[in-house]
Amino acid sequence: MTKSNHGFSTRAIHDGQAADPLTGAVNVPIYLSSTYQQEEIGRHKGYEYARVSNPTRDALETNLASLEGGSSAHVFASGMAAIMAMVTMLKSGDHVICGENVYGGTARLFNQIVVNYGIEFTYVDTSDVEAVRRAIKPETKLVHIETPTNPIMTITDIRAVAEICHAHKIELSVDNTFMSPYFQRPIELGADIVMHSTTKFLNGHSDGLGGVLVGTTPKHKEQFAFVQKCTGGILSPFECWLILRGVKTLAVRMEQHDESGRKVAAYLTQHKKVKQVFYPGLPEHPQHALAKKQMTGFGSMISFETGSLEKANTLLKSVHVCTLGESLGGVETLISHPATMTHAAVGEQERARLGITDGLVRLSVGIEDVDDLLADLDQALATL
Ligand SMILES: *Cc1c(COP(=O)(O)O)cnc(C)c1O
Repeated sequence: MTKSNHGFSTRAIHDGQAADPLTGAVNVPIYLSSTYQQEEIGRHKGYEYARVSNPTRDALETNLASLEGGSSAHVFASGMAAIMAMVTMLKSGDHVICGENVYGGTARLFNQIVVNYGIEFTYVDTSDVEAVRRAIKPETKLVHIETPTNPIMTITDIRAVAEICHAHKIELSVDNTFMSPYFQRPIELGADIVMHSTTKFLNGHSDGLGGVLVGTTPKHKEQFAFVQKCTGGILSPFECWLILRGVKTLAVRMEQHDESGRKVAAYLTQHKKVKQVFYPGLPEHPQHALAKKQMTGFGSMISFETGSLEKANTLLKSVHVCTLGESLGGVETLISHPATMTHAAVGEQERARLGITDGLVRLSVGIEDVDDLLADLDQALATL
């Protein structure tokens, strides 16, 4: 089965993953072959060399295109490699508008590597749609956004930004890593390209890096396949298989992440040692209405304010079920300190401007028993 009209969970389990024609295996095999036998000059079964294409990778790409509602998908060795592949659509002299609080690695790639090739970047608060409009120049070719943002959970109106982009013949790419296609499908809201670090919710088990670009035009398909072939930053067959395996349970995992996320956010909100909670599912989140409109769930990314670096550190040292570590989107609950971990390179001044304080702690709520998570946070907060 390739792409079908079935529901999300059915597509997650079946699209791109017909039983193996040779053996009937219900799981797509991990094809570990760098090259393929050819019958005669120019005649083969569609596979020649593994940098160009691989059956396990094809299955994953078909599957992810189906889940995001795109026309093609191409997977790369990491989320960053996927963004780098997207950048190859640009030329010297082009201009990009980028969300001011995108993933730190994205800004680092743009500011320390891509600018050297004559591509210019303007960073704006994309939750302010007019700020996006004001930043447009004749050379603007791409707007790249992330919603919700990390770690303050600011929401950008994807449909509104897409309309501005299309009025100016600019493409909109959305990093959909935090929500996964289960809760947010930017292409349905007008985005042209969706990017993911599959390392996070899509894989879901914290055991493999990967990235994907889901495209909507024949040009995307051609360009991203060409980048795979030319630059070789492809995802290995084993890692493709890990993601195929992870995605089969995406729907049930996301439901549980969301249910537990809401419970943890509600618990933190009423705790007297917690000064502020950032979670789009809370009615007091300034963009709760927009979040409800463009997302079908709120996920499990939550940030909260402890008051100081010392308090944050005490809390992080005191948790037992939550694991102190970077990354997100796995079955296990990860807790982290944005100011010294994910946003250390951002600099103190910029962190202050973005609202990333030294007391801010971020949670990626996993799918353990939520009562164990609440008890763990409760005993850790009691030490403050
Ligand atoms: C992790 C992450 C990336 C980078 O992905 P890697 O797989 O680590 O290269 C990009 N965007 C977001 C939102 C992420 O969380």
